[in-house]
Amino acid sequence: MTTPCIICVAITGSVPTKEDNPAVPISISEQIESTQECFEIGASIAHCHVRNSDGSPSIDPEKYRKLKEGLEKYCPGMIIQLSTGGRSGHGFERGKMLALRPDMASLTVGSNNFPSRVYENPPDLVEWLASEMKKYSVKPEIEVFDLSHIHQAAKLKNDGKLVGNLYVQFVMGVKNAMPADLDVFKYYIKTVKRLLPESLWCGAGIGKNQQILNEWCIEAGGHVRTGLEDNIRITKEKLAPSNASLVNIAKELCSKYERPVASWKETRKLLEIGDKSG
Ligand code: MG
Repeated sequence: MTTPCIICVAITGSVPTKEDNPAVPISISEQIESTQECFEIGASIAHCHVRNSDGSPSIDPEKYRKLKEGLEKYCPGMIIQLSTGGRSGHGFERGKMLALRPDMASLTVGSNNFPSRVYENPPDLVEWLASEMKKYSVKPEIEVFDLSHIHQAAKLKNDGKLVGNLYVQFVMGVKNAMPADLDVFKYYIKTVKRLLPESLWCGAGIGKNQQILNEWCIEAGGHVRTGLEDNIRITKEKLAPSNASLVNIAKELCSKYERPVASWKETRKLLEIGDKSG
């Protein structure tokens, strides 16, 4: 049987603004509304960042608490994944929301360049974030910006610092980091299968690479991420009217390759995440 495809929607991120695309949800209520729309059409993971009222990025655990509570109420069963990556340079502050015990959190296991800065993930911070995730039973999503990050995740797993079947995400198309290169993508999959055979993998393409990565992943049996955090356009000329419009593109690609879309229950089973809401 074909494995159902998990669709994750990254609703807000820390970069796009309403000036870039008015559909980017900024306030907690906008975020909840946008996520609910995606949940109702099949997205089963919400990747979340929080913002200040002026739109600037925040890592305030109180904001994360409000968002998490709203999503649990309006999207019951959906997997809530909080970002620990949003404020590079803020050190251990980045993991304070893990005490909220979300289902998942992102974990970048190494550093790399971003469009105009270094995305800093020093070893002591990575190990601390991993230990906090273990402590609070938060499933990490490993963010892979570079081949070495797969090796580092495997090392953390072998050292007992990460537990369970890992969810590994290949991020491609960030300016100054790994481009969307099909040979590299295939080698990433090969490396995950070799070093972390029980893991599941997915891909996130930035900007115009979003639909490309969606298609590569769906065709190759992996899972996908979409949403306005990574891409604000439907086509080169047209802004995406909503997060849901991007989820629909991923769904159409699932139909094209005859992959059923994973329900939230199937996603929890695939990722070995219990239902924390009871
Ligand atoms: Mg993010």
